[in-house]
This record gives sequence, structure tokens and C-alpha cells, in this order.
Amino acid sequence: MSAGQRKPEEAVINVTRASLPPIEEYQAMLREIWESAQLTNMGRYHEELRERLRRYLGVEELELFVNGHSALELLLQAFSLKGEVITTPFTFASTTHAIVRNGLKPVFCDISEKNYTIDVEKLPEKITENTCAILPVHVYGNICAVHKLSEMGRKYHIPVIYDAAHAFGESYEGRGVGSYGDASMFSFHATKVFHTIEGGAVSLGRRDPELMERLYELKNFGILGQEEVASVGANGKMNEFSAAMGLCNLNHISEYIEGRKRVFERYREILSGRRGILFPEPDPDTKSNYAYLPVRFFKASYSRDAIFERLGKNGIHARKYFYPCVNAYRCYREQYDERETPVAGRISREILTLPIYPGLPLEEVDRICRIVLEER
Ligand SMILES: *Cc1c(COP(=O)(O)O)cnc(C)c1O
Repeated sequence: MSAGQRKPEEAVINVTRASLPPIEEYQAMLREIWESAQLTNMGRYHEELRERLRRYLGVEELELFVNGHSALELLLQAFSLKGEVITTPFTFASTTHAIVRNGLKPVFCDISEKNYTIDVEKLPEKITENTCAILPVHVYGNICAVHKLSEMGRKYHIPVIYDAAHAFGESYEGRGVGSYGDASMFSFHATKVFHTIEGGAVSLGRRDPELMERLYELKNFGILGQEEVASVGANGKMNEFSAAMGLCNLNHISEYIEGRKRVFERYREILSGRRGILFPEPDPDTKSNYAYLPVRFFKASYSRDAIFERLGKNGIHARKYFYPCVNAYRCYREQYDERETPVAGRISREILTLPIYPGLPLEEVDRICRIVLEER
């Protein structure tokens, strides 16, 4: 049967599927929550998860949050910034919104053709006397030019704060990615490699009790003690149900990543090295988490949009991720021009992320690839 027809019994395949531990493991933890009746406010599971993640990620400091976005918003607030933040338009809405919602101005720098992270060659021309921070993103888990970025941070006396939402568990040159720069944000959303249903964290590569206290304060209404509220904080606390899910998932994280790797390698066998397709070859310096499968299709041979639609008709929901670029969003395009970041604009029209998750059967990967390759 041709790839164009769809058997009625075939289930829909989404670009990702939440990883879940055996239900009994979660139930056992729920029982403990029932017994203690502590549901939130930095309970036992919260503290256990914080310490285990700190070690797993290879970082010195770690604080948990209700989600990745609020971790990033509060992290920017903790640095008491004022002015312009240089960032990338090739990211999820959250990165830019966190800047704007702090009363700061995003300045978009183009991305590298090679791994889609911020282009450090073009970054210096974006620096002005108003620049107060750099906010790069480890896109798809591809690691930014961390050494050059640290150098620039030192040169201009501004912090480098990473959106590491895609990079859970990765290491670069043998070091946990969350230990680079001045701070990093991780997302533990259900669609990510590791999740706590909703959740997130901030990590630091060095000890900094002062910054950590400020972060803790900001995630808990600015409360210092029963009779003292020191700052205008938010509610960014992770609850015990989420922390318990995190502990269960952390016990299975190597299986999850292995499962993703298996799927990745199958795609690679079929799609790598073909004309008109750019397959994401792993970087030898990075221990990958195989979070995404971003494939670029070049116009002369393949149409990204046609492939997207054909997959959709076959019940396979790939994603044009990231498309459009943030500087083309309705809420930003009045103030910005996507043509100022031409590489990001072009790549956003070539890229398609294909389904990848631990339990995706390899025969389904074969079928997805057949559908992808059909049209010329
Ligand atoms: C998922 C994600 C976020 C936001 O994280 P949430 O936990 O969903 O709030 C931020 N940036 C990027 C790049 C992401 O992929």
C-alpha cells in the first residue's frame, strides 16, 4: 500500500509523547504524600529532587520552579537587569517573553548556520552601552559557543544566562551544560526529555548563596519569615506531586535517553547523507539527550511544507519548530524585522522536527521516512 493511504487502525503519532514511569512507582509515592499531607511548599520530595538533580546535572547550585518559564522570568529578575538583552529569534516564545515581561528589551542576533545557536561572530555588533545580559539558547540540545560567550560576558561585564530547556542531562566537553555561563534554566515540561508534569529549574556552575537566596525569595512571594516580606516576589513553587513524578522519572532517565537514541539512529540510517536533506549529525564534544529530530529540507529537492502536510494526512504530526521566528510573531513584528536575522528566517522555513520519543516503534520510523522521501 502506498504511503498516501492510511489504514484506519493506525494510531496518530505525535512529535513527542510524555515519558511515564510504571504507575505503581508513582502510586507508592502518592501514598506517602497522603500520609504526610504536605502537598507543596518545599516538602520532602521537593528537597530530595533538588539534591538529586543537582548531582545528576553536575552543577553546584540548583533551585526548582513550577515551570521553566517562571524559572527564567524570576532568574532574570534576580539579576536586577536594566536595558537590552541580546538573544536569538530562533527559539520558543518563552525566551523572549521572559525578557519583555521583566521590562527589558530583546535585541535579536542571528544564528549559526551550523547548529542554530546564537552566532558569536555577529554578536559583538549588537552590543551597546545599554546591553545588560546575553540570553542564548541551546537549541534542540545543540550547545552554544559557551567559551566565546563567557569571554564576551567578561569583556563587557554582563551575565550570560542560558535557556537550557532543551539540554537536560547533556554534557559538553565532559561538563554538565548547566554549569556554563552565569546561570541556566531547564524546563521539566511533560514534552521534554525529563519532566515533572510541569516544572523547571535554575542551575549555577559555581557556589553563589546570595543569588540562590534571592531566587528562593522570588519564587515564594518575597517572604523571608513569618513577619517579613522583603521583595515583590511571585509564586514559582514546585508542588510535591510534580517533585514525586520527577523522582520517578529520574530513576528511568537513562532508559528514556537510550530509547530516544535508538530511534535517532534508525532515522540516521535512513535519512543521513541524502541530497537535499540535512540530518542533525551529533557533535563529538556533546553527550546528547536526543531530545529532538530537526531535519532541514532544501527547496531544490524537497518541500518542507509538502512533507509536513503529507505526514499529517498519514496521522503523523511533525512540527515546524521553530517557525515562525520570534521576531515575526504578531506581538513583536511591529518593532522588529525578521529580515535582520536572515539565517534564522531561512532555517525556520527549511526545518521540520520529526517524531522522536522512547517508545516509538522502529517500524514507525521506517514508515515516517518512507512518507518523507516519497515526494521529489
Ligand atoms: C519548553 C521551553 C521553555 C519553557 O519551559 P516551560 O517549562 O514549558 O515553561 C523555554 N524555552 C524553550 C526553548 C523551551 O523549549
